[in-house]
Amino acid sequence: MSTFDSALTQLRKAAKVVDLDISLLDQLSLPERTITLAIPFKKDSGETEIVKGYRVQYNNLLGPYKGGLRFHPKVDMDEVCALGFWMMIKNAIVNVPFGGGKGGLEIDPHQLSESELERLTRQFARKLAPNIGAEVDVPAPDVNTNSKIMDWIEDEYGKAVRGKGKGGSIKEEEIKAVVTGKSILNGGSIGREEATGLGGFFVLEKLIKKLREEKTLPAGRPLTVAIQGFGNVGSNFASILHKNGYKVVAISDVKGGIFDSSGEGFNIDLVKVCRLEKGVLAGCYCIGSVCDLARKYKEGDISNEQLLGLEVDILIPAAMENVITKENAKKIKAKIVFEMANGPTTAEADEILNKRGIMVIPDVLANSGGVTVSYFEWYQNMHKEKWDLQKVNQKLKEKMESAFGKIWEIHLEKKVNIRTAAYILALKRLSKKASY
Ligand code: NAD
Repeated sequence: MSTFDSALTQLRKAAKVVDLDISLLDQLSLPERTITLAIPFKKDSGETEIVKGYRVQYNNLLGPYKGGLRFHPKVDMDEVCALGFWMMIKNAIVNVPFGGGKGGLEIDPHQLSESELERLTRQFARKLAPNIGAEVDVPAPDVNTNSKIMDWIEDEYGKAVRGKGKGGSIKEEEIKAVVTGKSILNGGSIGREEATGLGGFFVLEKLIKKLREEKTLPAGRPLTVAIQGFGNVGSNFASILHKNGYKVVAISDVKGGIFDSSGEGFNIDLVKVCRLEKGVLAGCYCIGSVCDLARKYKEGDISNEQLLGLEVDILIPAAMENVITKENAKKIKAKIVFEMANGPTTAEADEILNKRGIMVIPDVLANSGGVTVSYFEWYQNMHKEKWDLQKVNQKLKEKMESAFGKIWEIHLEKKVNIRTAAYILALKRLSKKASY
């Protein structure tokens, strides 16, 4: 089953429970617009290479299309459609006025020099410029993209549109708000970088409280955690959990992982220092990968596959989609799978985990803190405001806790799992905006 088919399976399950209007189900099962781009760029060697680029404007019932840009060799239209679809659901869940979108480049950016990466990104931005805008489609960072890349896009978009707005010049605040996840000096929101992890933490704390009240989890004992992925999402989430008394006993990146079998857990601050010292990728762009971390703690300590089967309380996939499959779902020993990556569990694996009584907290809830603060950034740009960290984090907490509370109620009332409950909440909000 393709990633997009897997995503639609989740939709159909929830649609059945709420008896969703068939026209709306059909509408939500298709992207509104898909864009494929051929992007020529000059390599340092002087040769020209053509890279495939994508943008899917999935649905804008709730507001401008919104979603990240991923630079990865496996990016393709199917993956981008699935990711755009999940953005639509996620934005409805946290109740921000955005629709769903996603895009990316089919490239391994680690093979590029920083100047090649900049030329390619700027070329991509020039090609995207006619299709994006603060009120139209607002990209953001995702796998292998960061605030520097967003700054280049914003700059290039500004050059393309300045002085060309309908009925006069486009406003500077609209240029600023064309992407989120920018650097703070360039209009980014304070708190955006940690937002996905922090948002997940607010949800996790509420969940643990409920499970302890129900006596599904023992009280008083610190919980053990294994995290796959140590980029923006995984590393920030690991730090927050470590600071709050969780034992992060295993972490990994694309090259493999480390496992503390004593159960004491890693000091994530030290792990981060090591990652910075040992980083092998080019320049500051590299920040966001464990790089050589595994080598420092004895290479090959643990593989990504082994990490998934560890006996921990909470397993946190925070890297890529489709890592929990029908083959390895039977081997998962965690009590909770907390999806910080988008789409880490295939539809078949999801069935197996449900049958085995493993609680899955779905991506569309768990990682929605990122887009929530992206919305705050967009809002600050559009209204020429600058919020402090306390205000950003307080508002993020309110949004995440409110979404969790509503989903938990649906879960109990309709006797459905948390993923289906989350989709039901999203469908309720999307249905209100649909008109034919
Ligand atoms: P990132 O590029 O910063 O980090 C990705 C991490 O995953 C790296 O540590 C990389 O080494 C690791 N990785 C890549 N392939 C892997 C593999 N096959 N096995 C194990 N590890 C692998 O990306 P990110 O922004 O942290 O995004 C991670 C996930 O979270 C993605 O699914 C993304 O869509 C999702 N997400 C990100 C945000 C955000 O704000 N950045 C928000 C919501 C969801």
